Amino acid sequence: MSYLPWQAHMWQQLQQRRHAGRLPHALLLSGPAGTGKLRFATAFAESLLCSTPGDDGSACGHCKACELVTAGSHPDWTTIAPEEAGKAIKVDQIRSLADFTSLHAHYGGSKVVTLQPVEQMNHAAANSLLKTLEEPSANTVLLLVTANPQRLLPTIRSRCQVLHFECPPRAEALAWLTTQLAGRDGERLLEIAAGAPVMALELADSDLLAVFDENFASIEALLGRWQDPLQVASQWHKQDGLRTLHWFSGWVTDMIRLASTDAPPHLDYLGLRDRLQALAKELELSTLHRFLEQLNEARRLLATSQVNSQLLFEELLVRWSALPRR
Ligand SMILES: [Zn+2]
Repeated sequence: MSYLPWQAHMWQQLQQRRHAGRLPHALLLSGPAGTGKLRFATAFAESLLCSTPGDDGSACGHCKACELVTAGSHPDWTTIAPEEAGKAIKVDQIRSLADFTSLHAHYGGSKVVTLQPVEQMNHAAANSLLKTLEEPSANTVLLLVTANPQRLLPTIRSRCQVLHFECPPRAEALAWLTTQLAGRDGERLLEIAAGAPVMALELADSDLLAVFDENFASIEALLGRWQDPLQVASQWHKQDGLRTLHWFSGWVTDMIRLASTDAPPHLDYLGLRDRLQALAKELELSTLHRFLEQLNEARRLLATSQVNSQLLFEELLVRWSALPRR
């Protein structure tokens, strides 16, 4: 896997630090979802493990180490993620790191840990990771990936070197996206992904676009009280909960913008403007602000605890459908 075009500068800087022997033992790759943080982490992990990297430090793709990486069986690289989408990373998963970091590298080079999304650790797991960070072991590099650094313990953040990722300029994002999509509408995808190119590509590779449209129609129908919130909750429960809530809070944020300022909403160009405006007109600004807070709290709960997403959606959607209207 290669790093992405808009990451070239960051890549070069990191490779320079590596060659100068100044690579930190823990990097926190932080930035909005869909900007390519995990790709960067993967490319860098491969680069660290490759025995004959190219001029820019990228993995060669054909040495023994690279073959093992491709087969998913390189013993010096471990990845940690929630066992189920939307669930927490458990303490046992973090504890297994202690064994990994205490071993010698099988191939004499670096050992690499990629962990994402790192904010989805439960409390015990976070404390366990803190211990690992406090006692770094030689030649082990931890690559921690997060779109929500504010949800991490400050003591974890402060023990990492932070790499900030951002959405590339629109033209650059679109240029890359066009090379990845065989003639599909990159613009609309990029907008739905709020400018994040990798998220836009994921949208193209799935039926998510239809889900996005259906979900928006549902929140309209719920506010008009011609759909049952419990029925919608049981549909949403089958989706990636965090992404579903990300969209919902994006819509509510845009309603607040439309109702309170002249700033254009994110979703203007999707033809959603009129529909968002119609919804915003039904509700007081203070009601929208309060609901947005509840949405953000729901996102936090879903990201950090073992909460039942069906119940969480039921509560939110019942609330949404019962909001006092003007
Ligand atoms: Zn190689």
